[in-house]
Amino acid sequence: MYADVIVDIASERVDRVFVYAVPEKYAATFCPGTRVRVPFGFREKEGYILRMRESTDFDPARIREIISPMEDYPAIPENLIALAEEVRADSHCPLCEALRLMIPSEMRGERIRVKTETCLRVTFPPQDAEKMIAEQSRSWRRKLILTALSDGLEHPLEEIRSLIKNWSEPVEQLARLGLIERHEREVFRNPWHGETEHSGDPELTAEQQDALVELIPALHRGKGETFLLHGVTGSGKTEVFVRLVRQALQMGKSAVILVPEIALTPQMTRYFHSRFGEELAVLHSRLTAGERFDEWRRIRFGKARIVVGARSAIFAPVRDPGVFIIDEEHETTYLSDHFPQYDARRIAEKRAVREGAAVVLASATPSIATYARARRGDFTLIEMPHRVLDRPLPRITVTDMREELRLGNRSIFSEALKTELRECLSRGEQAMLFMNRRGYAPFVNCRKCGESIRCRVCDVTMTYHATDGRLHCHYCGGSEPMPERCPSCQSPYIRTCGIGTQKVEEEVRNLFGAACVRMDNDTTASRDAHEKLLNRFRTGEAQVLIGTQMIAKGHDFPSVTLVGAVLADSTLNLPDYRSAERTFQLLVQVAGRAGRGEKEGHVIIQTYQPEHYAIRAAEKQDYRLFFNEEFTRRKRDLYPPFTQMDRVLFEGADQQKVRDECAAAEERIRAYLQEKDDLRRRVLFIRSDDAPISRIQNRYRAQVLIKMIDLPVMEPLLQFVQEMVSERENTANGQVTASFEMNPVSLA
Ligand code: ADP
Ligand code: ZN
Ligand code: ZN
Repeated sequence: MYADVIVDIASERVDRVFVYAVPEKYAATFCPGTRVRVPFGFREKEGYILRMRESTDFDPARIREIISPMEDYPAIPENLIALAEEVRADSHCPLCEALRLMIPSEMRGERIRVKTETCLRVTFPPQDAEKMIAEQSRSWRRKLILTALSDGLEHPLEEIRSLIKNWSEPVEQLARLGLIERHEREVFRNPWHGETEHSGDPELTAEQQDALVELIPALHRGKGETFLLHGVTGSGKTEVFVRLVRQALQMGKSAVILVPEIALTPQMTRYFHSRFGEELAVLHSRLTAGERFDEWRRIRFGKARIVVGARSAIFAPVRDPGVFIIDEEHETTYLSDHFPQYDARRIAEKRAVREGAAVVLASATPSIATYARARRGDFTLIEMPHRVLDRPLPRITVTDMREELRLGNRSIFSEALKTELRECLSRGEQAMLFMNRRGYAPFVNCRKCGESIRCRVCDVTMTYHATDGRLHCHYCGGSEPMPERCPSCQSPYIRTCGIGTQKVEEEVRNLFGAACVRMDNDTTASRDAHEKLLNRFRTGEAQVLIGTQMIAKGHDFPSVTLVGAVLADSTLNLPDYRSAERTFQLLVQVAGRAGRGEKEGHVIIQTYQPEHYAIRAAEKQDYRLFFNEEFTRRKRDLYPPFTQMDRVLFEGADQQKVRDECAAAEERIRAYLQEKDDLRRRVLFIRSDDAPISRIQNRYRAQVLIKMIDLPVMEPLLQFVQEMVSERENTANGQVTASFEMNPVSLA
């Protein structure tokens, strides 16, 4: 017996199958997906069995033998091996990197082990217990131990330990007498802290029912169909998920639910745990390595059939999935930001087709690309335009910060927000104040006319860099000096802009003396911080919740009646072609936090650009208005989904070498395109230049940018660039490193 093995070394050179002989004793148990130890060169390496084979063309004398298995079960089920092969093709990565996605990273190199505990059990049948206990009359300790074990079940040694001191001798004696036996048992570390009450089913609303009537047959058909569930905030999408998941379980299948960020996970897990208990497994980065490993194994062994998790949970080894649900599908966290790059939504589609499941993408503000595909008919669109129980959508007011300045208000709060906050607090209700990520790239805007400074080439907001005092475009790499007057209205009130969470907290304390909770990257670094901070707010200990976008999503606090977006411009002016989309999404999400209980909610959006279509559409809570404007703009200005922008980034200590390598790469790509008319026609530009941030920690950075029409026919070009980069990586002396990024989220 032989096996095709992928050795776990991430390099293009060994990205192929190596044939090993399977020792006789393993011939019956090895199968595709088994992880094994193999000799490789002079070392021992880990590897994955891809296929078993009866014979091989290689000279048997030269074939080496597999040493041993890593686990006594195949870590990667066959459907995920096939998926890894697709990921390799799409992400242009070695197969072993794709296979690594399928297991908890700590399993490699055995950095995590199965946890066991010692258990005791009596050897006699329960009906003899009384007699046996009586026979131990000379030792009350032995009697006590036998009594504790008399039900005939396994008991952890821990239990006996907590029962009596000096337990070890009587346990030894009982074992010698053959009355009890000891053995080791696997335990699963449980990430579920705290109790959840079991809750029953609410009666479905008409919209929820209609959605399910469309969705459930797709589970039965099992054809890999994708749906876009476009439901306003508070329309009760989560309950639709619950019913779908239950349907999948009833069909003997399993389900995966993705949530965008750790901040959301407690909310969703609580909801699901209260309905499904032990059937639920969670997978996200805040688990300890042991918990993650054990949750993964519960899924792998079929003990947990429902998975709620972050992006990488899309690779969970569920058996026979019935449905993949992706909540808040528009979130960029579904795109992995490191190699190998993948989009969890695309992976869900691929898995669903391969494994006969359905996909549900859900959002109140679908991404432009997804909604466009639904409109084109690739996905079935299901709409839930109303909140549950006839709750109204919140009332939204936009305040013009230019006007506030004109009237002499220099505070970060408009008069309207101050008044509303004061009233909300005095009624004993709760408020949320929201602003963009702390310390994000500062933009420059005019406080008189509201305009921000944009790149002349690509219309993306420019970012101020304190290092050289210039404005840089993070999209095309161009730069300009900082102007002294506003290019639109000539006023001198032009300056860098951005408000931090700390500043807002200070102001709220000073003005109102209210108890606040602040949530940003600083305050939520530790493991349980999210849950603790949110609890302080949930219990009413704090009246105001202040935070970055992490508070904008998903949370359900019924007593919040006021929500303030402190400065919408900070997202509107992100150095990114998606800034309008992000702003609209965030404002709608933020607004969705208000008025989720009995009382109506009010939302105040502060901005210097009240006439911007993203603000106007958010004010009206009108997704289609926004989509139409944005789609037209993307098409006109050649942005995704119509085009894609990729880059090769070079980094190194010697600036000249970095620039030379970069220029050489540009030349090679141009030379490649020379003979390829069909590709060249669809390339909008190729350009090499220093990166917008031209030096990080003494490493110089330069980039080649390639913008092209986004069509499948461009694949050979991407393939060429990827191969050029990895070939170079394998031969270069390491002074200059290169990496290839497709449609990177940031071009800094
Ligand atoms: P969405 O995810 O669409 O924004 P949620 O799923 O968070 O909305 O639901 C909003 C609120 O409505 C939650 O508090 C939820 O418990 C409640 N809810 C959902 N469905 C029903 C229903 N059929 N009857 C009563 N309350 C419901
Ligand atoms: Zn101006
Ligand atoms: Zn530009």
